[in-house]
Amino acid sequence: IFRPSQALSKVGPSAITRMTAATAELKRQGRQIASMHLGEPDFRTPENIVEAAIRAMRAGDTHYTALDGTPEIKSAVQEKFSRENGIYFDNDQIVVSSGAKMLLFSAFFATLNPGDEVIIPAPYWVSYADIVEMMGARAVVLPTHAQDGFKLQAEDLERAITPNTRWLLINSPSNPSGALYRRADYERILEVIERHPHVWFMIDDMYEHIIFQDEPFVTPAQLRPDLQGRILTINGVSKAYAMTGWRIGYAGGPAPLMKAIKAVLSQSTSCPCSIAQAAAAEALRGPQDAVRRYLAEYRARRDLVMTELSHCAGLKATEPDGTFYAFVDWNALFGRSTPKGETVTDDEDLCRYLLQDCGVSTVPGLAFGTQGFFRISFASTEAELRLGMARIREGCAALI
Ligand code: PLP
Repeated sequence: IFRPSQALSKVGPSAITRMTAATAELKRQGRQIASMHLGEPDFRTPENIVEAAIRAMRAGDTHYTALDGTPEIKSAVQEKFSRENGIYFDNDQIVVSSGAKMLLFSAFFATLNPGDEVIIPAPYWVSYADIVEMMGARAVVLPTHAQDGFKLQAEDLERAITPNTRWLLINSPSNPSGALYRRADYERILEVIERHPHVWFMIDDMYEHIIFQDEPFVTPAQLRPDLQGRILTINGVSKAYAMTGWRIGYAGGPAPLMKAIKAVLSQSTSCPCSIAQAAAAEALRGPQDAVRRYLAEYRARRDLVMTELSHCAGLKATEPDGTFYAFVDWNALFGRSTPKGETVTDDEDLCRYLLQDCGVSTVPGLAFGTQGFFRISFASTEAELRLGMARIREGCAALI
């Protein structure tokens, strides 16, 4: 009999994995599904980055590297933090690993004990709460609200902190809400963090380059260098450079924490892929025009999706300030019936209906800790988005 570990007992396949499997099954049966559930850029990795990988392979860079990254990628990360964020990290304050997710996992593995608490504002990226629970710690989920732009309020944070709080984890711009924390938002939160020296602040800047505002992106470590000793800044190349499959993420933080993260990596992934590191160094150092091109494309798609949503009776969504997601409020349709006579009483019901009966894949809001919503991704072609949005519109109109 197969017996999973206790660590795994609380964690099932994520709603996104389930949606991906259900979508693949319908496609296998010959159904044409408009895919709006996936969180990855549909663009190809830019050619200069691919070339750098080929050069690395030909040059024989195909062996283990230093655990925390080659000197080349580490200095590219160091330059990136200094150039784009105004943060200076020493060599022993940077770790490059196999994806940002592995860094989140390692940071939690390195610091959490049973009974510890991690404060996570909802809606949140699906993996956060599951990783925390896998460590035997508790994810303290704090709901945020559309009227606050889905951003954590300092008073709510203050109330949630207990002697067991180890981390606050924020992702901006946010997957799935698209919320972008501005300087003033962070300043209020950092004041609370300052008052509670046992609380550390983990920040996931994965979508830094996908923001639609003109004002500059800000990250907490740059605002309060005096608190840098307990801030971990996580980022990666997956989304900005359409490099999800290369698996390179990086982080900057206090040296003792980075040393502990390296201890976790030394007994799990070892170094990240040597070839992908060379590619990521080119991504960070080379021309950035692809990033700007993708952004223009995402902006056009966001506008298309928001216009289409405004024609969908019963749905509403705040315009995302960043990322390639829209988080759609469907509460006005709650309790209605599908043409087949099935009552729609939760996010899974609605997303199942949209997939099975209407042919468009989305992700239930509850997967992100927030009921009454679903997430659509606009990281797909305009034609697919138009098709998907038309199906959502017709599907919602058919609910009675
Ligand atoms: N952080 C957020 C908010 C994400 O949405 C994702 C991917 O979906 C990641 C991290 C994972 O990044 P990586 O591909 O570097 O593991």
